Amino acid sequence: MTDNTTPAVQNKDSSSTNGNGSDSNSSSTPSPPTADTSIAPESNNSTPQTNSNGNTNNANNNNSSPNLTSTTPPTTGAKKILENGTHIYCKWRDDAYHKCEIIDKREAETETGTYEYYIHYHEFNRRLDEWAHESRFDFNRIEMENKPHAPLAEIQNSEGQNRKITRQIKRKYDEMNHIQKGAEDESKLSAIEKEHEEITKVKNINVIELGRYEIDTWYFSPYPEEFAKCDKLFLCEFCLKYMKKKKTLNRHKLKCDLRHPPGNEIYRNGNLSVFEVDGKKNKIYCQNLCLLAKLFLDHKTLYYDVEPFLFYVMTECDQRGCHMVGYFSKEKDSPDGYNLACILTLPPFQRKGFGKLLISFSYELSKKESKIGTPEKPLSDLGLLSFRSYWTQVLLEILRKHKGNLSILDISNMTSIRTEDVISTLQSLNLIRYWKGQHIISVTPKAIEEHLKVYSKQTTKIEPKCIHWAPLNPPAKKHR
Ligand SMILES: [Zn+2]
Repeated sequence: MTDNTTPAVQNKDSSSTNGNGSDSNSSSTPSPPTADTSIAPESNNSTPQTNSNGNTNNANNNNSSPNLTSTTPPTTGAKKILENGTHIYCKWRDDAYHKCEIIDKREAETETGTYEYYIHYHEFNRRLDEWAHESRFDFNRIEMENKPHAPLAEIQNSEGQNRKITRQIKRKYDEMNHIQKGAEDESKLSAIEKEHEEITKVKNINVIELGRYEIDTWYFSPYPEEFAKCDKLFLCEFCLKYMKKKKTLNRHKLKCDLRHPPGNEIYRNGNLSVFEVDGKKNKIYCQNLCLLAKLFLDHKTLYYDVEPFLFYVMTECDQRGCHMVGYFSKEKDSPDGYNLACILTLPPFQRKGFGKLLISFSYELSKKESKIGTPEKPLSDLGLLSFRSYWTQVLLEILRKHKGNLSILDISNMTSIRTEDVISTLQSLNLIRYWKGQHIISVTPKAIEEHLKVYSKQTTKIEPKCIHWAPLNPPAKKHR
Protein backbone atom coordinates (compact mmCIF):
# COMPACT_ATOMS: atom_id res chain seq x y z
CA MET A 1 0.00 0.00 0.00
CA THR A 2 1.17 3.46 -0.57
CA ASP A 3 1.88 6.47 1.46
CA ASN A 4 2.15 4.96 4.86
CA THR A 5 4.44 7.77 5.74
CA THR A 6 1.88 10.45 5.15
CA PRO A 7 -0.16 11.40 8.17
CA ALA A 8 -3.28 12.33 6.32
CA VAL A 9 -4.94 14.13 9.15
CA GLN A 10 -2.09 16.33 10.08
CA ASN A 11 -3.43 18.91 7.78
CA LYS A 12 -6.19 20.94 9.30
CA ASP A 13 -7.50 22.36 6.15
CA SER A 14 -7.46 19.24 4.14
CA SER A 15 -10.93 18.64 5.47
CA SER A 16 -12.28 21.66 3.81
CA THR A 17 -10.13 21.54 0.84
CA ASN A 18 -8.57 20.24 -1.95
CA GLY A 19 -8.33 18.22 -4.92
CA ASN A 20 -7.23 18.01 -8.18
CA GLY A 21 -9.37 17.99 -7.11
CA SER A 22 -9.74 20.66 -5.56
CA ASP A 23 -9.68 23.14 -3.03
CA SER A 24 -6.12 23.93 -2.36
CA ASN A 25 -4.92 27.21 -3.66
CA SER A 26 -7.66 29.67 -3.02
CA SER A 27 -8.64 32.44 -5.37
CA SER A 28 -7.25 33.05 -8.74
CA THR A 29 -3.96 34.55 -7.72
CA PRO A 30 -0.81 32.85 -8.94
CA SER A 31 -0.26 29.87 -6.81
CA PRO A 32 2.71 29.36 -4.60
CA PRO A 33 5.05 26.51 -5.31
CA THR A 34 4.15 22.97 -4.61
CA ALA A 35 6.30 19.96 -4.99
CA ASP A 36 6.10 18.56 -8.43
CA THR A 37 4.65 15.14 -8.21
CA SER A 38 3.73 15.18 -11.82
CA ILE A 39 6.20 12.60 -12.91
CA ALA A 40 5.27 9.86 -10.53
CA PRO A 41 2.47 10.99 -8.28
CA GLU A 42 1.54 7.48 -7.30
CA SER A 43 4.96 6.26 -6.33
CA ASN A 44 5.20 5.09 -2.78
CA ASN A 45 7.16 7.93 -1.43
CA SER A 46 5.59 10.79 -3.22
CA THR A 47 4.18 12.72 -0.36
CA PRO A 48 2.68 15.91 -1.64
CA GLN A 49 4.57 18.74 -0.03
CA THR A 50 1.59 21.00 0.05
CA ASN A 51 0.46 22.40 3.32
CA SER A 52 -3.02 23.57 4.08
CA ASN A 53 -2.73 26.60 1.88
CA GLY A 54 -1.33 24.75 -0.99
CA ASN A 55 1.93 26.40 -0.11
CA THR A 56 5.10 24.55 -0.06
CA ASN A 57 7.31 25.29 2.78
CA ASN A 58 10.42 26.46 1.09
CA ALA A 59 12.57 25.77 4.07
CA ASN A 60 11.52 22.16 3.98
CA ASN A 61 12.19 21.96 0.35
CA ASN A 62 15.60 23.33 0.83
CA ASN A 63 16.33 20.83 3.51
CA SER A 64 15.23 17.92 1.50
CA SER A 65 17.00 18.98 -1.63
CA PRO A 66 19.93 21.14 -0.67
CA ASN A 67 21.44 20.90 -4.11
CA LEU A 68 18.57 22.48 -5.90
CA THR A 69 18.62 25.90 -4.34
CA SER A 70 21.18 28.46 -3.43
CA THR A 71 21.26 32.08 -2.51
CA THR A 72 24.74 32.65 -3.81
CA PRO A 73 24.65 35.42 -6.37
CA PRO A 74 26.10 34.47 -9.72
CA THR A 75 29.46 35.67 -10.75
CA THR A 76 29.52 36.98 -14.26
CA GLY A 77 29.33 34.02 -16.55
CA ALA A 78 29.46 34.07 -20.28
CA LYS A 79 25.94 34.37 -21.60
CA LYS A 80 24.95 32.15 -24.42
CA ILE A 81 21.82 30.91 -26.07
CA LEU A 82 20.48 27.94 -24.15
CA GLU A 83 18.99 24.91 -25.82
CA ASN A 84 15.75 23.29 -24.72
CA GLY A 85 16.39 20.63 -22.11
CA THR A 86 19.31 22.50 -20.54
CA HIS A 87 19.37 22.65 -16.77
CA ILE A 88 20.39 25.91 -15.15
CA TYR A 89 19.76 27.92 -11.98
CA CYS A 90 17.28 30.78 -12.07
CA LYS A 91 16.52 33.46 -9.50
CA TRP A 92 12.99 33.03 -8.21
CA ARG A 93 10.64 35.31 -6.28
CA ASP A 94 12.21 34.22 -2.98
CA ASP A 95 15.52 35.68 -4.24
CA ALA A 96 17.15 32.27 -4.18
CA TYR A 97 18.45 30.42 -7.19
CA HIS A 98 16.50 27.30 -8.10
CA LYS A 99 17.39 24.63 -10.56
CA CYS A 100 15.19 24.58 -13.63
CA GLU A 101 14.86 23.12 -17.08
CA ILE A 102 14.61 25.13 -20.28
CA ILE A 103 11.46 24.23 -22.19
CA ASP A 104 11.28 26.97 -24.80
CA LYS A 105 12.84 30.30 -25.72
CA ARG A 106 12.01 33.53 -27.52
CA GLU A 107 13.75 36.81 -28.12
CA ALA A 108 12.98 39.32 -25.40
CA GLU A 109 10.77 42.19 -26.53
CA THR A 110 12.11 44.53 -23.90
CA GLU A 111 15.77 44.13 -24.71
CA THR A 112 16.70 43.18 -28.23
CA GLY A 113 19.44 40.64 -28.62
CA THR A 114 18.55 38.96 -25.32
CA TYR A 115 16.36 35.95 -24.65
CA GLU A 116 13.53 34.88 -22.43
CA TYR A 117 13.15 31.23 -21.56
CA TYR A 118 10.11 29.20 -20.59
CA ILE A 119 11.28 27.18 -17.62
CA HIS A 120 10.14 24.44 -15.30
CA TYR A 121 11.57 24.48 -11.76
CA HIS A 122 12.68 21.05 -10.60
CA GLU A 123 11.23 21.49 -7.15
CA PHE A 124 7.95 23.14 -8.04
CA ASN A 125 4.73 21.99 -9.55
CA ARG A 126 4.29 22.77 -13.23
CA ARG A 127 1.76 25.44 -12.47
CA LEU A 128 4.78 27.57 -11.52
CA ASP A 129 6.35 27.23 -14.98
CA GLU A 130 7.04 30.67 -16.40
CA TRP A 131 8.89 32.89 -18.85
CA ALA A 132 12.08 34.22 -17.31
CA HIS A 133 14.52 36.71 -18.78
CA GLU A 134 18.10 35.46 -19.11
CA SER A 135 19.25 38.11 -16.64
CA ARG A 136 17.76 35.91 -13.93
CA PHE A 137 20.00 32.97 -14.78
CA ASP A 138 23.32 31.99 -13.30
CA PHE A 139 25.26 31.14 -16.44
CA ASN A 140 28.13 29.75 -14.39
CA ARG A 141 25.95 26.93 -13.26
CA ILE A 142 24.68 25.26 -16.35
CA GLU A 143 24.11 21.60 -15.66
CA MET A 144 23.35 18.89 -18.10
CA GLU A 145 23.44 20.89 -21.26
CA ASN A 146 21.06 19.33 -23.68
CA LYS A 147 22.94 17.27 -26.17
CA PRO A 148 21.26 16.14 -29.33
CA HIS A 149 21.84 12.56 -28.31
CA ALA A 150 20.79 12.45 -24.70
CA PRO A 151 21.30 9.04 -23.09
CA LEU A 152 18.49 6.82 -24.12
CA ALA A 153 17.06 3.74 -22.53
CA GLU A 154 15.87 0.75 -24.46
CA ILE A 155 12.74 -1.28 -24.11
CA GLN A 156 11.38 -4.18 -26.03
CA ASN A 157 7.97 -3.77 -27.58
CA SER A 158 5.37 -6.47 -28.00
CA GLU A 159 6.88 -7.59 -31.30
CA GLY A 160 10.21 -8.10 -29.62
CA GLN A 161 11.86 -5.14 -31.28
CA ASN A 162 13.98 -2.76 -29.28
CA ARG A 163 12.96 0.84 -29.06
CA LYS A 164 14.92 3.79 -27.75
CA ILE A 165 13.22 6.18 -25.39
CA THR A 166 14.34 8.81 -22.92
CA ARG A 167 15.15 7.72 -19.38
CA GLN A 168 12.31 9.72 -17.94
CA ILE A 169 9.79 8.03 -20.15
CA LYS A 170 11.40 4.67 -19.45
CA ARG A 171 10.95 5.23 -15.73
CA LYS A 172 7.29 5.99 -16.17
CA TYR A 173 6.87 3.07 -18.52
CA ASP A 174 8.36 0.69 -15.97
CA GLU A 175 6.14 2.08 -13.32
CA MET A 176 3.05 1.47 -15.37
CA ASN A 177 4.23 -1.93 -16.48
CA HIS A 178 4.77 -2.89 -12.92
CA ILE A 179 1.11 -2.26 -12.32
CA GLN A 180 -0.33 -3.76 -15.45
CA LYS A 181 2.06 -6.10 -17.19
CA GLY A 182 1.08 -7.40 -20.52
CA ALA A 183 -0.15 -6.45 -23.91
CA GLU A 184 -0.41 -3.14 -25.70
CA ASP A 185 3.06 -2.03 -24.73
CA GLU A 186 3.32 0.11 -27.80
CA SER A 187 0.07 1.94 -27.18
CA LYS A 188 0.88 2.47 -23.52
CA LEU A 189 4.21 3.89 -24.49
CA SER A 190 2.76 6.28 -26.99
CA ALA A 191 0.24 7.41 -24.40
CA ILE A 192 3.04 8.18 -21.97
CA GLU A 193 5.04 9.93 -24.64
CA LYS A 194 2.03 11.96 -25.60
CA GLU A 195 1.40 12.89 -22.02
CA HIS A 196 5.01 13.86 -21.54
CA GLU A 197 4.78 16.02 -24.60
CA GLU A 198 1.64 17.68 -23.29
CA ILE A 199 3.01 18.51 -19.87
CA THR A 200 6.18 20.01 -21.23
CA LYS A 201 4.28 22.35 -23.49
CA VAL A 202 4.41 26.04 -22.89
CA LYS A 203 1.40 27.48 -21.13
CA ASN A 204 -0.36 29.68 -23.62
CA ILE A 205 -3.59 31.08 -22.26
CA ASN A 206 -2.87 32.95 -19.06
CA VAL A 207 -6.28 34.16 -17.97
CA ILE A 208 -9.89 33.21 -18.56
CA GLU A 209 -13.07 35.10 -17.86
CA LEU A 210 -15.81 32.81 -16.65
CA GLY A 211 -19.05 34.28 -15.32
CA ARG A 212 -18.19 36.74 -12.56
CA TYR A 213 -14.61 35.54 -12.32
CA GLU A 214 -11.33 36.26 -13.95
CA ILE A 215 -9.12 33.26 -13.30
CA ASP A 216 -5.37 32.83 -13.75
CA THR A 217 -4.64 29.51 -15.43
CA TRP A 218 -2.12 26.93 -14.25
CA TYR A 219 -1.26 24.67 -17.19
CA PHE A 220 -1.22 24.25 -20.92
CA SER A 221 -4.52 23.29 -22.55
CA PRO A 222 -4.88 22.20 -26.18
CA TYR A 223 -7.42 24.79 -27.35
CA PRO A 224 -7.54 25.06 -31.16
CA GLU A 225 -4.56 26.95 -32.47
CA GLU A 226 -6.20 30.27 -33.19
CA PHE A 227 -7.41 30.44 -29.58
CA ALA A 228 -4.26 29.03 -28.06
CA LYS A 229 -2.36 32.18 -28.99
CA CYS A 230 -4.62 34.40 -26.91
CA ASP A 231 -3.43 35.63 -23.56
CA LYS A 232 -7.02 35.75 -22.36
CA LEU A 233 -10.08 33.72 -23.33
CA PHE A 234 -13.70 34.62 -22.66
CA LEU A 235 -15.98 31.72 -21.77
CA CYS A 236 -19.75 31.50 -21.60
CA GLU A 237 -20.22 30.20 -18.08
CA PHE A 238 -23.22 28.06 -19.08
CA CYS A 239 -22.31 26.40 -22.40
CA LEU A 240 -18.53 26.88 -21.90
CA LYS A 241 -18.05 28.14 -25.46
CA TYR A 242 -14.74 29.99 -25.67
CA MET A 243 -14.16 33.27 -27.47
CA LYS A 244 -11.30 35.63 -28.17
CA LYS A 245 -13.11 38.87 -27.48
CA LYS A 246 -15.31 40.27 -24.76
CA LYS A 247 -17.53 41.76 -27.47
CA THR A 248 -18.13 38.33 -28.97
CA LEU A 249 -19.00 36.96 -25.55
CA ASN A 250 -21.48 39.75 -24.94
CA ARG A 251 -23.17 39.03 -28.25
CA HIS A 252 -23.18 35.32 -27.45
CA LYS A 253 -24.83 35.93 -24.08
CA LEU A 254 -27.79 37.52 -25.81
CA LYS A 255 -28.43 34.36 -27.82
CA CYS A 256 -27.34 31.64 -25.41
CA ASP A 257 -30.36 30.54 -23.42
CA LEU A 258 -28.64 27.91 -21.30
CA ARG A 259 -28.78 28.75 -17.59
CA HIS A 260 -27.44 25.46 -16.22
CA PRO A 261 -25.33 22.60 -17.55
CA PRO A 262 -27.11 20.45 -20.14
CA GLY A 263 -28.30 17.02 -19.05
CA ASN A 264 -30.35 15.89 -16.09
CA GLU A 265 -30.35 17.51 -12.70
CA ILE A 266 -29.90 14.44 -10.51
CA TYR A 267 -29.26 16.17 -7.19
CA ARG A 268 -30.61 19.25 -5.46
CA ASN A 269 -30.14 20.25 -1.85
CA GLY A 270 -30.54 23.92 -1.02
CA ASN A 271 -28.78 25.87 -3.73
CA LEU A 272 -26.44 23.01 -4.58
CA SER A 273 -27.19 20.87 -7.65
CA VAL A 274 -25.47 18.17 -9.66
CA PHE A 275 -26.16 17.64 -13.37
CA GLU A 276 -25.35 14.43 -15.19
CA VAL A 277 -24.10 15.21 -18.70
CA ASP A 278 -23.61 12.44 -21.25
CA GLY A 279 -20.44 12.81 -23.33
CA LYS A 280 -22.25 11.34 -26.30
CA LYS A 281 -25.39 13.45 -26.14
CA ASN A 282 -23.62 16.70 -25.29
CA LYS A 283 -20.29 16.22 -26.95
CA ILE A 284 -19.39 19.87 -27.55
CA TYR A 285 -20.21 20.87 -23.99
CA CYS A 286 -18.13 18.02 -22.58
CA GLN A 287 -15.18 18.81 -24.86
CA ASN A 288 -15.35 22.44 -23.78
CA LEU A 289 -15.45 21.29 -20.17
CA CYS A 290 -12.34 19.13 -20.66
CA LEU A 291 -10.41 21.97 -22.31
CA LEU A 292 -11.34 24.27 -19.45
CA ALA A 293 -10.36 21.64 -16.87
CA LYS A 294 -6.97 21.06 -18.48
CA LEU A 295 -6.04 24.67 -17.69
CA PHE A 296 -5.96 23.58 -14.03
CA LEU A 297 -4.88 19.95 -14.29
CA ASP A 298 -1.38 18.79 -15.08
CA HIS A 299 -2.13 15.23 -16.12
CA LYS A 300 -5.37 15.14 -17.93
CA THR A 301 -5.05 13.58 -21.37
CA LEU A 302 -8.69 13.32 -22.40
CA TYR A 303 -10.06 16.28 -24.28
CA TYR A 304 -11.92 15.24 -27.37
CA ASP A 305 -12.87 11.59 -26.95
CA VAL A 306 -15.62 12.29 -24.44
CA GLU A 307 -18.31 9.86 -25.61
CA PRO A 308 -17.45 6.97 -23.25
CA PHE A 309 -17.81 9.27 -20.23
CA LEU A 310 -20.45 10.81 -18.04
CA PHE A 311 -19.75 14.19 -16.49
CA TYR A 312 -21.15 15.21 -13.12
CA VAL A 313 -21.20 18.98 -12.88
CA MET A 314 -21.79 20.57 -9.48
CA THR A 315 -23.40 24.02 -9.43
CA GLU A 316 -24.45 26.75 -7.05
CA CYS A 317 -27.74 28.28 -8.09
CA ASP A 318 -29.08 31.82 -7.79
CA GLN A 319 -31.58 33.94 -9.75
CA ARG A 320 -29.18 34.20 -12.68
CA GLY A 321 -28.73 30.47 -13.10
CA CYS A 322 -26.72 27.47 -11.93
CA HIS A 323 -23.02 28.31 -11.82
CA MET A 324 -20.45 25.56 -12.10
CA VAL A 325 -18.15 25.11 -9.11
CA GLY A 326 -16.51 21.87 -10.27
CA TYR A 327 -17.10 18.48 -11.81
CA PHE A 328 -15.91 14.93 -12.06
CA SER A 329 -16.03 12.53 -14.98
CA LYS A 330 -16.66 8.83 -14.92
CA GLU A 331 -16.35 6.07 -17.50
CA LYS A 332 -19.75 4.67 -18.45
CA ASP A 333 -18.27 1.22 -18.15
CA SER A 334 -14.99 0.79 -16.35
CA PRO A 335 -13.41 -2.66 -16.52
CA ASP A 336 -10.90 -1.54 -13.87
CA GLY A 337 -13.59 -0.53 -11.42
CA TYR A 338 -12.86 3.18 -11.57
CA ASN A 339 -15.69 5.30 -10.23
CA LEU A 340 -14.02 8.59 -11.08
CA ALA A 341 -11.76 9.54 -13.98
CA CYS A 342 -11.02 13.19 -13.48
CA ILE A 343 -11.99 15.78 -10.89
CA LEU A 344 -11.68 19.53 -10.66
CA THR A 345 -12.89 22.32 -8.43
CA LEU A 346 -12.57 25.66 -10.21
CA PRO A 347 -10.02 27.89 -8.45
CA PRO A 348 -12.49 30.53 -7.17
CA PHE A 349 -14.35 27.74 -5.33
CA GLN A 350 -11.36 25.91 -3.92
CA ARG A 351 -10.77 25.48 -0.20
CA LYS A 352 -14.50 25.51 0.44
CA GLY A 353 -15.06 21.78 0.64
CA PHE A 354 -16.40 21.26 -2.89
CA GLY A 355 -13.65 18.79 -3.80
CA LYS A 356 -14.73 16.48 -1.03
CA LEU A 357 -18.39 16.96 -1.89
CA LEU A 358 -17.65 15.83 -5.43
CA ILE A 359 -15.72 12.80 -4.18
CA SER A 360 -18.48 11.99 -1.75
CA PHE A 361 -20.98 12.19 -4.61
CA SER A 362 -18.93 9.75 -6.68
CA TYR A 363 -19.06 7.20 -3.86
CA GLU A 364 -22.79 7.73 -3.32
CA LEU A 365 -23.30 6.79 -6.98
CA SER A 366 -21.14 3.68 -6.49
CA LYS A 367 -23.26 2.70 -3.48
CA LYS A 368 -26.38 2.98 -5.64
CA GLU A 369 -24.72 0.75 -8.21
CA SER A 370 -23.72 -1.67 -5.42
CA LYS A 371 -20.17 -1.39 -6.65
CA ILE A 372 -16.83 -0.73 -5.07
CA GLY A 373 -14.81 1.97 -6.75
CA THR A 374 -11.54 3.80 -6.81
CA PRO A 375 -10.33 6.89 -8.64
CA GLU A 376 -8.34 6.47 -11.80
CA LYS A 377 -4.59 6.89 -11.38
CA PRO A 378 -2.47 8.88 -11.43
CA LEU A 379 -4.06 11.39 -9.10
CA SER A 380 -2.62 14.87 -9.07
CA ASP A 381 -0.94 16.07 -5.88
CA LEU A 382 -4.01 18.03 -4.90
CA GLY A 383 -6.33 15.22 -5.94
CA LEU A 384 -4.57 12.76 -3.69
CA LEU A 385 -4.91 15.15 -0.75
CA SER A 386 -8.63 15.45 -1.41
CA PHE A 387 -9.19 11.73 -1.58
CA ARG A 388 -7.10 11.06 1.52
CA SER A 389 -9.10 13.62 3.38
CA TYR A 390 -12.42 12.08 2.27
CA TRP A 391 -11.35 8.51 2.99
CA THR A 392 -10.00 9.48 6.40
CA GLN A 393 -13.17 11.21 7.46
CA VAL A 394 -15.45 8.41 6.26
CA LEU A 395 -13.38 5.65 7.88
CA LEU A 396 -13.03 7.45 11.21
CA GLU A 397 -16.76 8.05 11.40
CA ILE A 398 -17.46 4.38 10.76
CA LEU A 399 -14.92 3.27 13.34
CA ARG A 400 -16.50 5.63 15.84
CA LYS A 401 -20.03 4.33 15.24
CA HIS A 402 -19.25 0.62 15.17
CA LYS A 403 -18.05 -0.78 18.44
CA GLY A 404 -17.84 -4.42 17.39
CA ASN A 405 -15.38 -6.13 15.13
CA LEU A 406 -15.10 -4.77 11.64
CA SER A 407 -13.01 -6.27 8.87
CA ILE A 408 -11.45 -4.30 6.06
CA LEU A 409 -13.88 -6.02 3.72
CA ASP A 410 -16.87 -4.96 5.83
CA ILE A 411 -15.70 -1.38 5.70
CA SER A 412 -15.16 -1.58 1.97
CA ASN A 413 -18.67 -2.92 1.43
CA MET A 414 -20.23 -0.26 3.63
CA THR A 415 -18.43 2.64 1.98
CA SER A 416 -17.80 1.46 -1.61
CA ILE A 417 -14.15 2.38 -0.97
CA ARG A 418 -11.75 -0.21 -2.37
CA THR A 419 -9.90 -2.30 0.24
CA GLU A 420 -6.47 -1.02 -0.89
CA ASP A 421 -7.62 2.54 -0.29
CA VAL A 422 -9.05 1.58 3.12
CA ILE A 423 -5.77 -0.03 4.13
CA SER A 424 -3.54 2.77 2.91
CA THR A 425 -5.69 5.36 4.67
CA LEU A 426 -5.64 3.45 7.96
CA GLN A 427 -1.90 3.01 7.58
CA SER A 428 -1.44 6.72 7.10
CA LEU A 429 -3.32 7.23 10.38
CA ASN A 430 -1.31 4.53 12.07
CA LEU A 431 -4.50 2.67 12.94
CA ILE A 432 -3.65 -0.65 11.37
CA ARG A 433 -1.12 -3.39 12.05
CA TYR A 434 0.02 -6.28 9.95
CA TRP A 435 0.06 -9.39 12.07
CA LYS A 436 0.45 -13.02 11.04
CA GLY A 437 -0.30 -12.23 7.42
CA GLN A 438 -3.39 -10.17 8.19
CA HIS A 439 -4.26 -6.53 8.55
CA ILE A 440 -5.65 -5.82 11.99
CA ILE A 441 -7.41 -2.55 12.71
CA SER A 442 -6.06 -1.30 15.96
CA VAL A 443 -7.81 1.73 17.35
CA THR A 444 -8.90 3.40 20.57
CA PRO A 445 -11.88 5.76 20.90
CA LYS A 446 -9.47 8.45 22.02
CA ALA A 447 -7.38 8.13 18.88
CA ILE A 448 -10.49 8.42 16.73
CA GLU A 449 -11.71 11.53 18.52
CA GLU A 450 -8.27 13.09 18.20
CA HIS A 451 -8.22 12.54 14.46
CA LEU A 452 -11.84 13.57 13.97
CA LYS A 453 -11.39 16.94 15.68
CA VAL A 454 -9.89 18.13 12.43
CA TYR A 455 -13.18 17.61 10.61
CA SER A 456 -15.59 19.24 13.03
CA LYS A 457 -15.72 22.42 10.95
CA GLN A 458 -17.02 20.75 7.85
CA THR A 459 -20.79 20.91 7.73
CA THR A 460 -21.92 20.55 4.13
CA LYS A 461 -22.45 16.97 3.09
CA ILE A 462 -24.06 15.14 0.23
CA GLU A 463 -27.56 14.13 1.28
CA PRO A 464 -28.13 10.68 -0.29
CA LYS A 465 -31.92 11.20 -0.13
CA CYS A 466 -31.59 14.09 -2.56
CA ILE A 467 -29.97 12.00 -5.29
CA HIS A 468 -32.49 11.12 -7.99
CA TRP A 469 -30.60 8.66 -10.05
CA ALA A 470 -30.64 5.01 -11.02
CA PRO A 471 -27.69 3.18 -12.53
CA LEU A 472 -27.74 2.50 -16.26
CA ASN A 473 -27.21 -1.20 -15.63
CA PRO A 474 -29.09 -2.53 -12.62
CA PRO A 475 -26.82 -3.49 -9.71
CA ALA A 476 -25.27 -6.89 -10.11
CA LYS A 477 -23.10 -8.68 -7.63
CA LYS A 478 -20.49 -6.57 -5.90
CA HIS A 479 -17.06 -6.88 -7.28
CA ARG A 480 -13.85 -5.38 -6.21
ZN1 LIG B 1 -23.36 30.01 -23.95
